[in-house]
Amino acid sequence: MTKTIKNYINGEWVDARATDVIPVHDPATCELLANCPDSNIDDVNTAVQAATDAFEEWRSTPILSRAQYMHHFKVLVEENFEDISQIVVKEHGKTMDEARGEVRRAIESIDFAMSVPVLMRSDGLEDISSGIDETTVRQPAGVFAAITPFNFPFMVPLWFLPTAIACGNTFILKPSPQTPLSTELLFEMLDELDLPEGVVNLVNGGVPSAQALMEHPDITGVSFVGSSPIAKIIYETCTRHGKRVQAQGGAKNYIAVMPDANMEASVKNILGAAYGCAGQRCLAAAVAVGVGDAYDQLKDELTKQVANLKVGYGLDETTQMGTVISDSAKNRIESMIAQSADEGADIVIDGRGITVDGYEKGSWVGPTLIADVKRDTTMATEEVFGPVLALMKADSFEEAVDIINDSHYGNAASIFTSNGKQAREFKYNVKAGNIGVNIGVAAPSASFPFGGQKDSFFGDLHGQGMDSIEFYTERKIVIERWV
Ligand code: NAD
Repeated sequence: MTKTIKNYINGEWVDARATDVIPVHDPATCELLANCPDSNIDDVNTAVQAATDAFEEWRSTPILSRAQYMHHFKVLVEENFEDISQIVVKEHGKTMDEARGEVRRAIESIDFAMSVPVLMRSDGLEDISSGIDETTVRQPAGVFAAITPFNFPFMVPLWFLPTAIACGNTFILKPSPQTPLSTELLFEMLDELDLPEGVVNLVNGGVPSAQALMEHPDITGVSFVGSSPIAKIIYETCTRHGKRVQAQGGAKNYIAVMPDANMEASVKNILGAAYGCAGQRCLAAAVAVGVGDAYDQLKDELTKQVANLKVGYGLDETTQMGTVISDSAKNRIESMIAQSADEGADIVIDGRGITVDGYEKGSWVGPTLIADVKRDTTMATEEVFGPVLALMKADSFEEAVDIINDSHYGNAASIFTSNGKQAREFKYNVKAGNIGVNIGVAAPSASFPFGGQKDSFFGDLHGQGMDSIEFYTERKIVIERWV
């Protein structure tokens, strides 16, 4: 019998009160892995009550003890490294190496949270007036929630949870109902930490539970990662309910390739950036803009190499690219490829309609390369979130920057060049939150904020880095005189 995943509330695994479930499939084999409860407002209320009740005791737990839990947590994740990676592959469809990379990045976020005793320190000033001293202290701000996407099911929740609780807050996670098994394992490890009951809680589900979290009066703040239309809804709803919110959205990331770039290295990087995780990364390269002669070279080289990528089941270690998340994602991607042909682009390598032997029912889309993509067409402007790379031509560096800055997204942009001056102009002028110079995937490490501008981010304080310390704490200014 297929298991229905439980919620984790107040230190124990509990059945959701909601009876509706969302099936969770392995997108390569189509096997039904589990049912995810579609938790309702009662489930959320119970979790918020648990987190609220736990807050006072947890905030007064010495900060070094709170950080110490993170050391133990890291050890558990390291010990379970391969099992976690396998579960990520099974429910998401990416390759084993990609899953291992995800878990490694997740560990970096736990490392960051260990530094909270240093990062939460504040400053002060003596004698701001005769015999009067003024200091700032950072205090935990309350109960926080995170609503996370399917594409990095283990890593993205850890952008938030470790820092939030190490700062002394209590926490509720609502992961994507498409990939709830990685977070089930995550909470099994958290359960082993023997944290006080209610410090961390897991509510599985889709829109009803997300909605209830956004509207609950006892939740101080919400971290969100997902598509831009939903990020906007989250931002508007949370602010309307008086919460702090950081909402990281979708993307259309451009890579400018200059004629002076090292073409071999550029193509290798762009291949990984465009087709890694089957293009289901918010930092995926979506459009390569070849400047001048670079366009034809890029097109020729990519045409040779894209065709050789081995598509297959993620648990097969020789696989270079796995499935997309679902049949509905496959249909969306395939229809965007068709639309691009209708809009006059040249489908150089077409990944539609492929199958993989032994996995005929899988949600496969092969690596796709589309040339002669024109400005203002859907392929140039809208997020595909699949293994599709568009090629655009620009006559000059300035035109390439103009194409990039035209986008309503601003998550990431990269340049490949050997010219430092042009690289500097790119960093200086391009309107995107994560910039790569001779780097295809400009992914900030855990101690830097995750950039994102325009429709790729709604809020003020970003996830990760010092922004996360600001987001998860309240500053109090103390002015003292003793006579
Ligand atoms: P999604 O927006 O469909 O879902 C994200 C989360 O929001 C899920 O937990 C989902 O259950 C919830 N949700 C969906 N509809 C909702 C609604 N109406 N109200 C409240 N909550 C709702 O995103 P996805 O398909 O899971 O993930 C892919 C998207 O995430 C892509 O657009 C990708 O670019 C983006 N992403 C962004 C970043 C980043 O850091 N900027 C990182 C990873 C993924």
